[in-house]
Amino acid sequence: MNSAQLHQRFLLSSGACTDTRKINKNCIFFALKGGNFNGNEFAAEALQNGARYAVVDEKEFALEDDERFILVKNSLESLQKLAIFHRNYLEIPILAITGSNGKTTTKELLYAVLSRKFRTVATKGNLNNHIGVPLTLLSMDEETEFGIVEMGANHLREIEFLCSIANPDYGYITNFGKAHLEGFGGVEGVIKGKTELYKHLQEQNKLIFLNIDDEIQRKHHNYKHTFSFGMSRLADVRLSYLQGQPNAQLLFNDTKFNSKLTGSYNATNMAAALCIGLYFKIKFNDIREAIEEYSPQNNRSQLIESGNNTIIMDAYNANPTSMHAALENFNNLQTSKQKIAVLGDMFELGDAAPTEHQVIVNFIENSKISETYLLGENFKKTHTSNDFIFKFKDIEALKTHLQESNFENCYFLIKGSRGMALERVLDSIKKSR
Ligand code: ATP
Ligand code: MG
Repeated sequence: MNSAQLHQRFLLSSGACTDTRKINKNCIFFALKGGNFNGNEFAAEALQNGARYAVVDEKEFALEDDERFILVKNSLESLQKLAIFHRNYLEIPILAITGSNGKTTTKELLYAVLSRKFRTVATKGNLNNHIGVPLTLLSMDEETEFGIVEMGANHLREIEFLCSIANPDYGYITNFGKAHLEGFGGVEGVIKGKTELYKHLQEQNKLIFLNIDDEIQRKHHNYKHTFSFGMSRLADVRLSYLQGQPNAQLLFNDTKFNSKLTGSYNATNMAAALCIGLYFKIKFNDIREAIEEYSPQNNRSQLIESGNNTIIMDAYNANPTSMHAALENFNNLQTSKQKIAVLGDMFELGDAAPTEHQVIVNFIENSKISETYLLGENFKKTHTSNDFIFKFKDIEALKTHLQESNFENCYFLIKGSRGMALERVLDSIKKSR
């Protein structure tokens, strides 16, 4: 079945699904294969649960005489080709966001801003890979006026591939940081990998949004279609950032933009949303309101008050760049409270892991942070002679310590890689008083 024929079936359905546990009635189910599962085995169940069609790529799972089964060579490729076909069918502007940190936050801020004017559809949660990007495109329909697509990558040519599917008209790269060093083979690889988005847009004569204060982004300012923000006089949207506050704030045209996001690094994410909102001529007050009302989810840059303690909950993820940004922000925070950092290992660093963890410990040694609690195999191997840095053997030991300490007037930063799931310590801190 070719993409045009599959698209006709898709239009008769209520969207695409890949997970039998989340089947929408009348959807078109794609049987994908993962490391430990074969989606083909669930195709019949998907139909039983209400799917209208099931796309399978193993003959024995397609029951004969049942036209609801669509047999293809490769279900994943069919899903991706269908997304390409659908994207062209829609004829709407699509903006792609990639970068090492802050993609989801920027995407959500931008979604809040653009929704003030356009019927906007954006990536749900973190569906930003070779499956998530097609599913995002397929979640757009004739009513959609604007699409925002988050693109994640942990190796070269991944963004190039995602661009070939989403064919974006606009693009923004949040930053170039030390994330997924293993797959990219170092920071140069990260830059090359992320700028595949710029390359795609330039080849198509499309527009790039730039943070002009970023050294690498500035190098692309001579491209003819850019719209930029930053502190520099060269910026189209010139603004400044307010430092030392518990939440991210920025100043534009004498107006202060507040936010419910912690960490000054989030101010760049706000600035991107402001800049792009202005470009699309969204009313100034609408932009401000959308940004100020946005409240982060999933343990991302959340500010939690518990008794007289304050907690920066940033346990969603960590890599050397975001860890450093969070610690620097924490260190510079103006507060009379005692600062305590609870940190977990950073994953996917390959050979760079020992050095990158040691760099973090060295930073803490020279900071104003009163106490630091470290968890994980990488932090365990770091060296320190500082009496205020404690290493815990496992999460239980850390939780017990937190629970038994009588914290009063403390300011916590909780951060680690997703696999460390450091949000598990939250209850222990809350119970400590
Ligand atoms: P993922 O790769 O998991 O999709 P992401 O790029 O979508 O991540 P977010 O989920 O928005 O990023 O934020 C993850 C964490 O990155 C935040 O909790 C925060 O600590 C940090 N972060 C967010 N924005 C920035 C930024 N501009 N610079 C540095 N760190 C940031
Ligand atoms: Mg994300």
